[in-house]
Amino acid sequence: MKYYILFGPPGAGKGTQAAPLVEKYNLKHISTGALLREEIAAGSELGKKAKELIDAGNLVPDDIVEGMLAKSFANAEGIDGFLLDGFPRTIQQAMDLDEMLEARDESVTAVISLMIPDETIKERIAHRAQVEGRADDASEETVNNRIATYHAQTEPLIAFYEDAGKYHEIQSLGTIAEVGERIQSVMDEFSALA
Ligand code: ADP
Repeated sequence: MKYYILFGPPGAGKGTQAAPLVEKYNLKHISTGALLREEIAAGSELGKKAKELIDAGNLVPDDIVEGMLAKSFANAEGIDGFLLDGFPRTIQQAMDLDEMLEARDESVTAVISLMIPDETIKERIAHRAQVEGRADDASEETVNNRIATYHAQTEPLIAFYEDAGKYHEIQSLGTIAEVGERIQSVMDEFSALA
């Protein structure tokens, strides 16, 4: 089983890029953000708790996202691996992920990091707010806090995965197809391995 992590700041294009990748490499896409939005849409208790935090641009507690992740991992029939999008977002989550995978005799295959400048994050999210109508995209204050949360809590993962020899960074500027090709050139190295 392959365990790929699509990493990057909000608005880097993780969700956009994930769709063709899961097709090509026969992976299951796990987006913790999308799973949380499903819970919010369903009006569950978990969704209510998450909504307040998400709308303020903060992270949701680890036990909530890790519970959802464990459920998604449980069904691996017919796939060659998983593409994680939006997880891990903290060093603690990365350590928990390593533990979860170790228990299955598995490990993270590669981290592909999509990099864009903060200014581009703001432009892309402003555009997405009009197209998708996500509540957490609507206010400038929330977006600024998400960017701050990314720098404070998520960016340290770069060094974590560099130390593990698993970090691959690409520029996420250019067309969707160009970025897709850059990601695939990294993933091709690993999908060729047994
Ligand atoms: P984006 O990366 O574009 O901001 P996501 O859809 O990945 O959006 O996530 C939306 C929100 O869901 C995040 O701002 C955060 O509040 C919450 N969230 C998603 N994944 C996690 C996670 N792994 N840990 C904690 N909170 C998360």
